[in-house]
Amino acid sequence: MHRFFLTPEFLHGLQVTFPQEIAHQIIRVLRLREGDKVAVLDNSGLIHQVRLSIDPAEVSLTGTILETKHASTEPKTHISLYFGLSSREKIEWILQKGTEIGISAFIPFYSSRTRVKPESFTTKKMERWERIIREAAEQSGRGRLPALHPPQDFVNCLSIEDSRPRLRMIAWEAAQEGSEPLAEVLKRFNETSADLFVGPEGGFSEDEVDLACATGCQVVSLGKRILRMETAAIIFPALVLYQLGEM
Ligand code: SAM
Repeated sequence: MHRFFLTPEFLHGLQVTFPQEIAHQIIRVLRLREGDKVAVLDNSGLIHQVRLSIDPAEVSLTGTILETKHASTEPKTHISLYFGLSSREKIEWILQKGTEIGISAFIPFYSSRTRVKPESFTTKKMERWERIIREAAEQSGRGRLPALHPPQDFVNCLSIEDSRPRLRMIAWEAAQEGSEPLAEVLKRFNETSADLFVGPEGGFSEDEVDLACATGCQVVSLGKRILRMETAAIIFPALVLYQLGEM
């Protein structure tokens, strides 16, 4: 069943109105018909089964909620992925694949070795990234949309307050031989959320790793091979989700 995220203003009791863009996609692209059913998610964790009502001119689209239940696809652990800003293709890859595997929040950051500068960031990019996340969430059957934070400075990321008990880990390819394997770190994991840090193509400086450790991050290795940042940004959370029984 096709799934669509709608913001709350489109749901009124048992009635649903679809925004023009989604109405067009349902009527013209998916060619669904009067009486067909779709799943509507309001980003509260609920999923509504909706029967479609298409006006004769086939322009506006409404629906009636037949059944509502809790979406069962969200991971129990809230994973925030902090990643160094990179090229458009890599960022879009990370947002799409990260949404599919179950990441709950994306926080892009600038650091000493990111080549993308703050002034190049536009709200247009944010809107495109949010659309990529929404489409990936609909395709993968997510119950909630992952949050997307505007890019911020790496040092600020380390001081973001969060009421939830959380495990903070920074992936560093230069982690000393003796650094604890990720699996061992996760055996002690009994928090409800995890913050994962992955650096840009140029990696983290030693000072950045030291600062991360000073603010409670655990340094972890992702193995003896050097992964591209877009690989590490997916492998790292996937390993955590796997170890926590979410994959
Ligand atoms: N300094 C690296 C080099 O020499 O090519 C480049 C950094 S790597 C392409 C980008 C990011 O991926 C790193 O900052 C780190 O967060 C993560 N990463 C890649 N391979 C890793 C590994 N084997 N262990 C831990 N983190 C890794």
